[in-house]
Amino acid sequence: MSGFNLIPFLDLKTPHIELRPQLQAAFERVLNSGWYIQGSELKQFEEEFANYCEAKYCIGVGNGLDALHLILRAYDIGEGDEVIVPSNTYIATWLAASYAEATPIPVEPDERTYNIDPSRIEAAITPRTKAIMVVHLYGQPADMDVISAVAKKHNLKVIEDAAQAHGARYKGKRVGTLGDAAGFSFYPGKNLGAMGDGGAVTTNDAELAEKIRTLGNYGSRIKYHNEVKGYNSRLDELQAAFLREKLKKLDAWNAQRKAIAAEYVRKLESHNLVLPVVPEWADPVWHLFVVRSQQRENLQAHLQQQGIGTMIHYPIPPHLQPAYSELGYKQGDFPIAEAIHREVLSLPMGPTMNVAQVTQVSKSTNDYLEA
Ligand SMILES: *Cc1c(COP(=O)(O)O)cnc(C)c1O
Repeated sequence: MSGFNLIPFLDLKTPHIELRPQLQAAFERVLNSGWYIQGSELKQFEEEFANYCEAKYCIGVGNGLDALHLILRAYDIGEGDEVIVPSNTYIATWLAASYAEATPIPVEPDERTYNIDPSRIEAAITPRTKAIMVVHLYGQPADMDVISAVAKKHNLKVIEDAAQAHGARYKGKRVGTLGDAAGFSFYPGKNLGAMGDGGAVTTNDAELAEKIRTLGNYGSRIKYHNEVKGYNSRLDELQAAFLREKLKKLDAWNAQRKAIAAEYVRKLESHNLVLPVVPEWADPVWHLFVVRSQQRENLQAHLQQQGIGTMIHYPIPPHLQPAYSELGYKQGDFPIAEAIHREVLSLPMGPTMNVAQVTQVSKSTNDYLEA
């Protein structure tokens, strides 16, 4: 998609080329082991990623959507139950609730941080509400203390959708243990990405960890003994081996993203552009660098002409997707999310981007908006 751009939206190849010897060695380890599902690479990755997240447990699963879905299943959240979700998110957050046969109940975001607005959650709670699924959107942690206080008052689970936020910190603590459980995605484009699909759940809850491990492996703890109707959702040895190598680089890669974001903030001068807002308690990992412009479409076309790849995260909010027509929402029901979806543009961002590229993107953006 952005393969021919001078400055691609995201360069997935260079980080892998840089790690070629380590990734090839990882491949050789798995090849020679003769063991390809649920072996020692997975076990070690789970320990290493749990340590990284400062969590007691990590369970590798098939992808990020499964991670969120399995958490809901493990908490027996299902038909007739409601799960509070952000109106401003990728559709996977909503789909996790739907997979579990629960109903996603959208809550509008804070216009400045794009994350769920804690002050609006209480109004959406009903006797059927079982959980709040928070998203650390674009890599920036949500305001967890306020959300957890509401959850505690109403006896709700707090589930983190951490698919975009590997390594981010909230008041010094890593995402992944800020609620009852967290779902991560290792889709290739995420801050920690596999070379294929992958995901994980992190939690400090031993019982939940055991349930998720069982659910993701056909409902079985002992081979061919099936306690519950489970799923097949596992992180394979090859992806786990690759992820172990890439995890060693994650902090350095996130630091480079942070440097790139700081450079954008310095260089994007146009007053016709809204820059990301970072609350003082947030240490984001800049999965995306998202700006807002009322001339979003034209700006994107202009940048494309200059060979600069951009993306829109996301063009259509979940409540207006045909997939959710059954819920009967219409344009205007969630005006904050709708305005955000109309105006956001994600500028190039990644672990191997350099300052010269930021200068060029910023100049093209400033020139266009001030012309
Ligand atoms: C990527 C993503 C997911 C889903 O992850 P997959 O591995 O693609 O299933 C869930 N939530 C958010 C916010 C995401 O960005």
